[in-house]
Amino acid sequence: MEYLGQVLFLLLLVVGFGFFIKNIKKLIRNIKLGRDIDRTDNSSARWKNMIRVALGQSKMVKRPIPAILHIFVYAGFVIINIEMLEIIVDGLFGTHRAFSFLGAGYNALIGIFEVLAFLVIFGVVVFWIRRNVIKLKRFNQPEMEGWAKRDANNIIYIETTLMCFFLIMNAADYYLQGINHTHYTAVGSFPISSLISPIFEGVNPATVAFVERFCWWAHIAGVMVFMNYLYYSKHLHIFLAFPNTYYANLKPQGEFNNLESVKKEVSLMMDPNADPYAAPVEPVGEPEKFGAQDVMDLNWVQLLNAYSCTECGRCTSSCPQNTTGKKLSPRKIMMSTRDRLEDVSKILDANNGKFVDDGKTLLNDYITPEELWACNTCNACVEECPIDISPLSIIMDMRRFLVMEQSAAPVELNNMMQNVENNAAPWQYNQMDRLNWKDEN
Ligand code: SF4
Ligand code: SF4
Repeated sequence: MEYLGQVLFLLLLVVGFGFFIKNIKKLIRNIKLGRDIDRTDNSSARWKNMIRVALGQSKMVKRPIPAILHIFVYAGFVIINIEMLEIIVDGLFGTHRAFSFLGAGYNALIGIFEVLAFLVIFGVVVFWIRRNVIKLKRFNQPEMEGWAKRDANNIIYIETTLMCFFLIMNAADYYLQGINHTHYTAVGSFPISSLISPIFEGVNPATVAFVERFCWWAHIAGVMVFMNYLYYSKHLHIFLAFPNTYYANLKPQGEFNNLESVKKEVSLMMDPNADPYAAPVEPVGEPEKFGAQDVMDLNWVQLLNAYSCTECGRCTSSCPQNTTGKKLSPRKIMMSTRDRLEDVSKILDANNGKFVDDGKTLLNDYITPEELWACNTCNACVEECPIDISPLSIIMDMRRFLVMEQSAAPVELNNMMQNVENNAAPWQYNQMDRLNWKDEN
């Protein structure tokens, strides 16, 4: 019985981290379903981009109020988790405030954690008001109905609850320190919880000690639940924003990638020394598929993008086509890609890692051609995304599939492409006639 608490604590950690590792493995497996793409070049520029964009949140500052609130929540949540180290040591070894030997440094740390916990609560309450009371437009678009809305609110509730447990635990501890109750010796500084502790005046010390223990257990159990909830949530970005910005496309945004096989064909056609009667070289293996019909046709960075998306809607609110009422939301492109990837993941889980065709594809069942053709490729969504996601690259790959595999471009585009091929101009007349307009009066 003496070690029951420690055994239970160890069990909690094993179960919590066990599920977490299982989810991480699943995440990596799913991202690896994507096609290969080389993003190992220029590592120093990649590190700089990650530090600037993910750690420094440089793209968030365009909107200062949410940026400051987000920094409260982000910094607070990350830094307070240092406290988890002490909780783990205490839980495993049956100690109480094991790091208190750090003296003044410990006092300062606890004080900082408390201020940050308060700022986290303040930040998430404002976020909740913006979403649910003010109902900001970008949080209330069609793709944010149902689970997306519940998920955003769940995160707010979980973070608030965790911070409250932390502060009430400290308030009870502070009160018990003041009355020299058993092992509660005076350590730490409690700028916020000392304001809460008067609620324990006159309460039986054993009850206060129970409250302190309850909040301690609830805090660590809550962190384990939160850690495992992440896989199912948009909040995965708290981890994935880092690799996502590291592997981001660092080339100029207007630069599109060429298909090597097509480039080779065109170069051959234009090469005056090429033998026009030479037998074509037959490709080895599966014929190449042009563009993307399903998530397996996208590259792994695009799939990482889908899991990293914070669903903030900055891309959609800056999209000129969305603003003018077209059926296109770059955020929905990312959410649909993740939805399809998760459905594929379930198929893999149910079939020992083998994909069994379910008759669905990302194209048509999750993202419609109407959405794809509404995009004007302006790159505003890419520019705006706080973690360097490119919805446009997915749109372009799917359009490439429609054009090159299905010849399913809109009539206007097909006419234009035919004109370019025949007349070297997008119009229906000969290129020699292009300047005729100047002779018209
Ligand atoms: S690139 Fe397309 S999806 Fe992105 S903002 Fe421009 S029109 Fe919208
Ligand atoms: S793609 Fe970027 S900007 Fe758009 S919702 Fe996701 S994180 Fe926000």
